[in-house]
Amino acid sequence: MPKKFLSLLLLIFVICAFCVATRHVQAATPQKERVDLLISGGTVVTMDSGKRVIEGGAVAVRADVIVAVGARQEIESRYEAARTIDAHGKIVLPGLINSHAHAAMSLFRGLADDLSLDDWLRKYIFPAEARNVTEDFAAWGTKLSLLEMLRGGITTYADMYYFEDAVARVTKEAGMRGVLGETIIDFPAPDNKTLDQAYNYTQKFIDHWKGDPLIIAAVAPHSIYTCSEKTLEDSAALARKNGAPILIHIAEAPFELEQSRAKHGLTPVAYLGRIGVLGPDVLGAHCIAVNSADIATLAHFGVGCSHNPSSNMKTAAGVMPVIEMLAAGVPVGLATDGAASNNNQDLFEEMDLAAKLQKISRMDPRALPAAQVVEMATIGGARALHLEKRIGSLEAGKQADLIIVDTSAPHAAPMYNVNSELVFALKATDVRTVVIAGRVIMDERKALTLNEDEILQKAREYQKQIVASLAQK
Ligand SMILES: [Zn+2]
Repeated sequence: MPKKFLSLLLLIFVICAFCVATRHVQAATPQKERVDLLISGGTVVTMDSGKRVIEGGAVAVRADVIVAVGARQEIESRYEAARTIDAHGKIVLPGLINSHAHAAMSLFRGLADDLSLDDWLRKYIFPAEARNVTEDFAAWGTKLSLLEMLRGGITTYADMYYFEDAVARVTKEAGMRGVLGETIIDFPAPDNKTLDQAYNYTQKFIDHWKGDPLIIAAVAPHSIYTCSEKTLEDSAALARKNGAPILIHIAEAPFELEQSRAKHGLTPVAYLGRIGVLGPDVLGAHCIAVNSADIATLAHFGVGCSHNPSSNMKTAAGVMPVIEMLAAGVPVGLATDGAASNNNQDLFEEMDLAAKLQKISRMDPRALPAAQVVEMATIGGARALHLEKRIGSLEAGKQADLIIVDTSAPHAAPMYNVNSELVFALKATDVRTVVIAGRVIMDERKALTLNEDEILQKAREYQKQIVASLAQK
């Protein structure tokens, strides 16, 4: 055999061996998909339609979206992340949704308590608002609430207040998600002295935030007892012209029911239905004074409702019939209300109280079990705000809003049942890490987008100013 031919054979053999070897290596280490963030290990509470809880789970996030949720080994074998957060021994769940707040009112926290709603409003809150609420007040008061909400695992909140454009600006700066409603009310407000001014402001506000990934501008006619029929109709028309949600207090206390019956011959829910305000774009806060026909009406129109147990107990407003509403198919979320009537923005506390309030008011310990309460604080709140396609659960394709909660404190050990743990044992201070739209906003309890020292300093300054303003006659 010629030498040349032998060399050629050897060369072909070497090339083939190389090809086989490289193919083998490629098969052994398949290319992993790149993602930005992996949360790995821990108990993953998905709140998906099957209510899957994955022990030793993981969540993969690319940009602002969840790309996969599953067992840790499976997710880690498929994805390679720029950053991995170890969640072993912790609970990973969707960010909490606070479906009703007046964030800026945090600066009135503890200003006046233990009063009738009427005295509280007329002697303290309305005068304090008239003398102090400016755009600067709204911005700093909101920042104080955002800091508190963030540290307690709230990633989305619904707000009703004044200067809502400033509220939106600081919410966006903090990287948090908000459904923010400019209040429309039949008396001169701190920002708009007439209804025409209020409608103009609200239109500009909606235009300003159109298409924003975090901020949804809403229209917030205050209530049926502070807005005329025309105001309610015009506010709803403005919202619907723009495709904006409507936030409104509905049946929040017995006095509202009495007034509505006397004035309109109807319950508040029936009245709002008759004048065309109710619809699948409405979130009603409180919904306490409702009968079974009202509940059917709310379900019929697809209205979402917000339950505020602390505030309802503190103002002795009554108890929302949560169980009947859920049974009728009304989406019910959980909320803190403003810090002036709560006095905090802690949804862990609201979860605990929501369950206990139904139990004691019915003398039935089986009422409103923990799993249902966790649902109200997450996907239920998303449904109430009509955002369940975007947020509220950990599922591929949804926005990456999630929190990591520590379970190592004495009050949390041992953990038999994750829902029981979340509702009855854990506290807002157990939240370690918060991710909103894929961005880590709080890292190991450090707020990354809000300056805590500066905010607390401003709160103290405003306290002095508010006390001085109320001393003036
Ligand atoms: Zn309210």
